Amino acid sequence: MKDKFDYFIKTENNKWEVIIGLEVHAQVTSKSKLFSSSSTKFGGKPNTQVSLVDSAFPGMLPVINKFCIEQAVKTGLGLNAKINLRSIFDRKNYFYADLPAGYQISQYKNPIVGEGSVTLDMPYGTKKVGIERLHLEQDAGKSIHDLSPDNTFVDLNRSGVALMEIVSKPDLRSPDEVNSYVKKLRTIMRYLGTCDGNMQEGSLRADVNVSVRKEGEKKFGTRCEIKNVNSIKFMEMAIESEAKRQVELIESGKKIVQETRLFDTKKNETRSMRSKEEAHDYRYFPDPDLLPLEIKQSFVDNLKNKLPELPDKKKERFINKFKLTPYEANVLISENNISEYFEEVIKSADIKLAKNWIIVELFAVLNDKNLDIKDSPVSSKNLANLVNLISSGEISGKIAKKVFELMVQSGDEPSKIIKDKGLQQQSDPKELEKIVKNVLEKNLDKITQYKAGKEKLYGFFVGEVMKASSGKANPKLVNDILKKELKK
Ligand code: ADP
Ligand code: MG
Repeated sequence: MKDKFDYFIKTENNKWEVIIGLEVHAQVTSKSKLFSSSSTKFGGKPNTQVSLVDSAFPGMLPVINKFCIEQAVKTGLGLNAKINLRSIFDRKNYFYADLPAGYQISQYKNPIVGEGSVTLDMPYGTKKVGIERLHLEQDAGKSIHDLSPDNTFVDLNRSGVALMEIVSKPDLRSPDEVNSYVKKLRTIMRYLGTCDGNMQEGSLRADVNVSVRKEGEKKFGTRCEIKNVNSIKFMEMAIESEAKRQVELIESGKKIVQETRLFDTKKNETRSMRSKEEAHDYRYFPDPDLLPLEIKQSFVDNLKNKLPELPDKKKERFINKFKLTPYEANVLISENNISEYFEEVIKSADIKLAKNWIIVELFAVLNDKNLDIKDSPVSSKNLANLVNLISSGEISGKIAKKVFELMVQSGDEPSKIIKDKGLQQQSDPKELEKIVKNVLEKNLDKITQYKAGKEKLYGFFVGEVMKASSGKANPKLVNDILKKELKK
């Protein structure tokens, strides 16, 4: 990433700006579905979590899940958005094997959440991205085409699971901004507990709208929509390749047609799925089985009062109270589990040391082992103990790294490891004097050179003493003794 915004598609004669708007589909964290009591658990055997409502048996009536409404309102509040006290569920009609009802219940003209915003921290400053709306809708089932050469199977476990569709304004301008936007949305929803953000399991995916315009132009170009992209990396790649395709078309005198496209991750290119003319006419109309959804202001206020501290607030507090840099604060608030771990450690340990141990050493281990911090082999209490052993001078930073390594392997408490492995710092002046004298006796020629002016050799002596003590000698004492002895 760069300090200055610099994302343009540059060609021989032009500089093109890329305009992006996202429709993010976030699965609501909820035990049961939006209009039925079937389980939403991921990974169940096909068609074991399907009620008569989900499979659209005639005469079945949807019953709204109040918890999902709470989740959508909470998310709206987390996006600083207007909550609409009256919203309407519509039927979006289309035919597909994984949609037994022949329509999806969604919200169209009257969504539950209106305009809001999300703030991004970019290397070139903060950036506000507008939210157009958030609406609730049902997920469809899943067609499985690769189990048999002649048949398609359908799994309706997902059918009826609640999704929040979060639509951004066309305010994003680069793959980096999209990366940052999706991560920020995910962080906010994870703090709120409204979506687990697990992209591998499909809990968070996006339709990516892309258009291009020459730098300085006011009017937006015609957009294409890339459907159902399920990783941040793929979003970035899809935008890059789609923007280039559009620029090439326009520069060769052709026009962009508004259409829906798919991103081929293997070929790294988008291809047409259907044009606007072929687009579905969904024949939206209010679902006659459902009354308009009316919620009370007191319902909203009640949820508002119970909101947790959200990422932006927490970041501000970390910077002001703990004197972290914006970068450090961003890293430490990126997940609730991380900030909780950090705050646990600094309850009893030095902040400056603790933050470095977490950001540098602990994160390296977690990344390497692909572990969540809540499964860290080093508990917050044990890390605090380690930091305290360093602060009090009981072990050097170098030994601490060794102890930390053993903590990762065993999950043990640092003082136990230090005792078991005999890693205590050597601070007994008599013992150290012996070691220093021993080193000097073996290097009489070097002492002569040192005294003759080759002062660089001082470092050599220190190194030899540390080596002789297996890195355990107290460095300050070593210096004191060595200086005294060399003066003799
Ligand atoms: P639809 O319902 O047809 O998908 P919307 O008006 O809801 O259309 O817009 C969908 C998304 O497209 C929004 O995220 C919006 O920000 C984005 N968008 C609209 N115009 C453009 C444009 N010219 N370039 C890029 N994105 C755009
Ligand atoms: Mg769309």
